[in-house]
Amino acid sequence: MRLGPITSDRFSQDRLHLVQELRSRGIHDERVLEAVAGIPRERFLDGQYAAHAYDDSALPIGEGQTISQPYTVAYQTQALDLKPGEKVLELGTGSGYQTAILAKMGVRVYTIERHVALLEQARKRLESLEFHRIISRAGDGTRGWPEYAPYDAILVTAGAPDVPESLTKQLSTEGGRLVIPIGDKKKQVMYLIRRNGEKLSGEALADFSFVPLIGSEGWALR
Ligand code: SAH
Repeated sequence: MRLGPITSDRFSQDRLHLVQELRSRGIHDERVLEAVAGIPRERFLDGQYAAHAYDDSALPIGEGQTISQPYTVAYQTQALDLKPGEKVLELGTGSGYQTAILAKMGVRVYTIERHVALLEQARKRLESLEFHRIISRAGDGTRGWPEYAPYDAILVTAGAPDVPESLTKQLSTEGGRLVIPIGDKKKQVMYLIRRNGEKLSGEALADFSFVPLIGSEGWALR
């Protein structure tokens, strides 16, 4: 496997171990593994947590939210089956780590985060890693981002009670894919939804646990 530009920093061994671990857990898309190998996850974490960047676990990022576990990020990215140049909408920028993985895959990324403070921090991190083409906004992503639709793929990185209709409407009619965890507030099943013309088909993939997707087509904020 060819590595990205980061080969000799103090985390490079850890990053390679993480890639091996992901491979052993069933992540087989080489482009996804290359992206993981090429993004410094420690740069998306604050102080005390950076040392744990290569543990395969979710970690706090502030505002009661978490950076997704690397396995989850790799799993969702693999499920999207992205091709370079495709247009992708991400809901839940959070730390920006998943956003960076998408950008590294060579797709055009649009991302929405409801916590302004998280979005601003993520923007700074992405800029400092030379990702200058990511388009982002603060707000409720459950209604999608109609201005830039249709999307070849939509990725939801928070747990939804159901599939937001606005998102399926904004999927490309030619093989658009939506990857979204659906369930209750604690546990969800990852779904891959495909659109061809007006026809939607859904496939249940595996169990996961995400923070809730909060918004007009998600969970109500209590
Ligand atoms: N991909 C991120 C995951 C962060 S957790 C990462 O790995 O860092 C999920 C994120 O979704 C949280 O930051 C949360 O604030 C955000 N979120 C929840 N509901 C949302 C909504 N309706 N629109 C946009 N972002 C939302």
